[in-house]
Amino acid sequence: MKFKTIFEPFKIKSVEPITMSTESERLEYLEQADYNPFRLNSKDVLIDFLTDSGTSAMSSKQWASLMDGDEAYAGSKSWIKMEKEIKDLTGFEHILPTHQGRAGERILYGYLGGKGKIFISNTHFDTTRANIEYSGAEAIDIPIPESAEPMLSHPFKGNMDTDKLKELLKNHSSEEIGGVILTVTNNSGGGQPVSMKNAIEVSNLCKKFNVKFFLDCCRIAENSYFIKTREPGYRRMSYRNIAREMFSLADGCVMSAKKDGLVNMGGFLALKDKDLSDACTNLLIITEGFVTYGGLSGRDMEAISLGLREVFDEDYLKYRIRSTEYLGEMLYRMGIPLIWPIGGHAVYIDAKSFYQHIPVDQYPGQALVCELYIKGGIRSVEIGSVMFGKYDEDGDLIPAPNELVRLAIPRRVYTQSHIEYVIEVFKLLLEERDSVKGFEITEESEFLRHFTAKFRRVS
Ligand SMILES: *Cc1c(COP(=O)(O)O)cnc(C)c1O
Repeated sequence: MKFKTIFEPFKIKSVEPITMSTESERLEYLEQADYNPFRLNSKDVLIDFLTDSGTSAMSSKQWASLMDGDEAYAGSKSWIKMEKEIKDLTGFEHILPTHQGRAGERILYGYLGGKGKIFISNTHFDTTRANIEYSGAEAIDIPIPESAEPMLSHPFKGNMDTDKLKELLKNHSSEEIGGVILTVTNNSGGGQPVSMKNAIEVSNLCKKFNVKFFLDCCRIAENSYFIKTREPGYRRMSYRNIAREMFSLADGCVMSAKKDGLVNMGGFLALKDKDLSDACTNLLIITEGFVTYGGLSGRDMEAISLGLREVFDEDYLKYRIRSTEYLGEMLYRMGIPLIWPIGGHAVYIDAKSFYQHIPVDQYPGQALVCELYIKGGIRSVEIGSVMFGKYDEDGDLIPAPNELVRLAIPRRVYTQSHIEYVIEVFKLLLEERDSVKGFEITEESEFLRHFTAKFRRVS
């Protein structure tokens, strides 16, 4: 290409207005929300970077397909289309539709789990871990050591530590192991990619030790982009074929279509083995729905079929990864500390380094999340001691390993000017950073407290 600028590879056909607000209005909204952005009304948010899950904009083709949805209870043509599409992409024989990713996790890991079992992953996503632990099994994370260093550059920082995997496989019988799960990209590990080489090594070890290998493939298209651009030998392969190669290494996958499915709701489970699929199908019928719709309506299945194609479009993927990277690069150049390199779907700011004067037990991540909202109307999420902190016997905080703030970018939703605006807000935050104060928690629940906790600013 002759030109440097990569522009959004779409035109906007339908618009959703953003309601403007002033700083003093936002201060009031946030006070009413007890300084927890999860408690804000979305109409009071200017730029919503809370999550990339289920927040994608559908294409005009996807919207048009909704009218074609076949809502038959059994044998829906929308299901036949979706099943064919997923078989073609994944190569797996048995496809089970679910209402979102965690439903597939509950079925598969609930069946394979139970007391005395372990699951091993580069990093279990929180719903994956919750479903595994709920079954009574243990979830063990073994990311490569480089992933613990926020600023350390590595092309595939989402990889699994295969030496540790080998040790674990040697020290447990194959009956004790519920499964090995590669999360691509590694969401909880900063949206970092996994290399094909790593997936091949994991696959070979699993075969050797006779244990099942699954992909948590929510962001498999974004991961394929990184393989094509960073891993030797893949430059000429299409993104879709890179994904296919990765699927061919595994025994099955769980997908939340709310990410790379480019839809607002949906997911699936895809499996190689018939007996395992039969067992999962029984559970699917009890809790999700009949085998030809799972938890989905016919129109959802139409949109997923198209989304799974559109997401591998070369221009889309280039724009997607580049626009996330652009935001990260600009912040990095301004001196904002963040996880490097930039992952596929989000930019992760290191709030502990940004607000060095705020002690960890006054939640620097929460302070940044609140400043972003007050100053710029930007909603983000704390991934630090509010989310993962625990208390010791004296009631003192045991902090999380990192105090991060995630800016997750919805797919096809915001334009370059929205991103430029976010960068400008960060400039202001940088100027004012020494005067910002931390927070204390005034009310919290026992589980997943970050969703509902209430805060007060430390005076
Ligand atoms: C979102 C997500 C899930 C869970 O999917 P839901 O659709 O939210 O239930 C599982 N794994 C990863 C890596 C995810 O990002």
